[in-house]
Amino acid sequence: MKTIGLIGGMSWESTAIYYELLNKKVKELLGGFHSAKLLLNSVDFAQIEILQRHNDWDGLNKIMIKSAKQLENAGADLIILCTNTMHLCSEEIIENTSIPFLHIADATGKQIKTDGLKKVALLGTKFTMERDFYKNTLLQYGIKTIIPKEKDREIIHQIIYKELVLGVIKDSSKKELLRIINTLELKGAEGIILGCTEIPLLIKPDDVSVPIFDTTKIHAESAIKKALEKQTINPPQTID
Ligand code: GLU
Repeated sequence: MKTIGLIGGMSWESTAIYYELLNKKVKELLGGFHSAKLLLNSVDFAQIEILQRHNDWDGLNKIMIKSAKQLENAGADLIILCTNTMHLCSEEIIENTSIPFLHIADATGKQIKTDGLKKVALLGTKFTMERDFYKNTLLQYGIKTIIPKEKDREIIHQIIYKELVLGVIKDSSKKELLRIINTLELKGAEGIILGCTEIPLLIKPDDVSVPIFDTTKIHAESAIKKALEKQTINPPQTID
């Protein structure tokens, strides 16, 4: 089994879910006493949130590169970044490390394609919904993405930063998200991407009539698949 390096703490509420999902998947696949081989590099989210708010992506890139390098130096075989939003730094991480980086939108795109959906709605922070990085990755899988209208994007962003990352779960916010999801379904969304690793704290598959794509779960499971992949060893060359 390969060692997965996690860049976490954004927020720790969802990193805790990753930790559980990663271990559960290994237990399901290998059974017995097996558990996931992990290295966790957990940042202080207060520092991240300030830089995000000031749109200081140079500063954020520096922290993400440093975290990824620390994981590589500590012996991680692959890296996952436990947040959708911070994948805005993924190119910088990839350029500055030499171990595989498993992109959350790639894993999600593969799953949606496998399930045969062509048009989905994306819920997440304003960074994730409004910038192109996520939508463009999905487009590579032939998936068209729609997002909520501006007022609703602001509502979701506030629910994430004022409640979910702080572990606050409110029934009124769940109702708001379900209302927004309903408007997106009416606009033709065949499925809903929970494109923020904390939204699954609020929305469960049974709450919605169309398929939901829980990016935390999809990402964690794709990492385990990669960690358990068999190495292909070339057969020895025969000399005539
Ligand atoms: N975890 C969230 C996400 O998946 C938001 C927190 C953050 O800004 O990283 O986008």
